[in-house]
Amino acid sequence: MKISEVISAGQTAFTFEIFPPKKQSSIETIYQTLEGLHGLHPDFISVTYGAGGNAADTKTCDIAQIIREKYNTESAVHLTCLYNSKEDIDQIVLQLKERGIQNILALRGDRNPDIAPKEDFRYASELIAYLKSKGDFYIMGGCYPECHPQCPTLDEDIENLKRKVDAGTDRLLSQLFFDNDDFMRFLEKARRAGIDVPIEAGIMPVVNKAQIERMVTLCGASLPHKFVRMMAKYEQYPDALRDAGIAYAIDQIVDLVSQGVDGIHLYTMNNPYVARKITEAVQGIIRPV
Ligand code: FAD
Repeated sequence: MKISEVISAGQTAFTFEIFPPKKQSSIETIYQTLEGLHGLHPDFISVTYGAGGNAADTKTCDIAQIIREKYNTESAVHLTCLYNSKEDIDQIVLQLKERGIQNILALRGDRNPDIAPKEDFRYASELIAYLKSKGDFYIMGGCYPECHPQCPTLDEDIENLKRKVDAGTDRLLSQLFFDNDDFMRFLEKARRAGIDVPIEAGIMPVVNKAQIERMVTLCGASLPHKFVRMMAKYEQYPDALRDAGIAYAIDQIVDLVSQGVDGIHLYTMNNPYVARKITEAVQGIIRPV
C-alpha cells in the first residue's frame, strides 16, 4: 500500500526508522527489534540502506517485506544512487515490485572517498525522476533543517530541494536536529520557496554519549546549550542519560506537534525500549481523541 493511502491529508504522521543488522549479524536479530516495536502502530517503518558508510546491504528489501507481511505495518525502503547504475536500480525496482513494496526514500547517499561513484546519478532528484518513470511508487526524499553539509547556504539547499520535489517527491523526511527553532525556520523558508509536500521532522533520542558524537560528526547537527548541559550532567550515569535523552525527545515532539508540523520521523536506532517510552508519552498528543 502506498503511504498516501495510510496517512490522510492533514493527519499528523508518526513514523519510525530502523536499520538492518550489521553485516556479521544474522537477519534474525531484526526480529527482536520488530517484536519490541510491535503494538506501537507507527504509520510506517522505513529501513535504511547502506547507511553510515557501510556497504549497501540487500537486507533492506527483506526487512521491509517482513514488516508489511508479518507485522501488518506499512514499510518503506531507503535507496541510494551514487554507487548504483541504472541497471542496478532496475534490478532493485524489480525486487520491490515482486515484494509489493511501493514506498521508497530516494537518496543520493554519502560519498566514500575510497570508492569511485557510478556515473548514472549525481543527485537524489535524478534517482527520483528515474524511479517515477519505472513504476507507481510513493517517493520520499531527505531534507536538512540546518542545511546539507555540502551546500554553502540553506537558501541554495532549499532551491535544490525544490528541484527534488519538482522531480516527483511526495513527502520529505528531515535530518535529525536538536533545536526546534532550526526546523521551524527551515519549514518557513521551504514553504516560501513553494515546497508544498508534507515534511516530517526527524527526531533522534540520544541515549548514549558515543551515539551523539558519531551522529553529530556524520550529519553536522548543532547542539543547543540545554542539550550540552544535559549531556555534561549525566554522561557518567548511563541510565540517567538515557532517561534525559528520552525526555528531551518528548519535549521536542510536543513542541513541534503543537506548532502544527506534518509529522514526526523517529530514528529508533533499533531500540524498542526508547521507541516505546516516547510513543507512550506522545501518542495522545499526536492523535488527540
Ligand atoms: P541530494 O538531494 O542529492 O543533495 C545532496 C547535495 O547536493 C546537497 O548539498 C544539495 O544541496 C546538492 N544538490 C542537489 N541537487 C543539486 C543540483 N541539481 N545542483 C547542485 N547541487 C545540488 N544515507 C544512506 O547511505 N543510507 C540511508 O539509508 C540514509 N537514510 C537517510 C534518511 C534521511 C531521513 C536522511 C535525511 C538522510 C539519509 N541518508 C542516508 C543520508 C544521505 O544519503 C546523505 O545526507 C547524502 O549526503 C545526501 O543525500 P540526499 O538524498 O539528501 O542528496
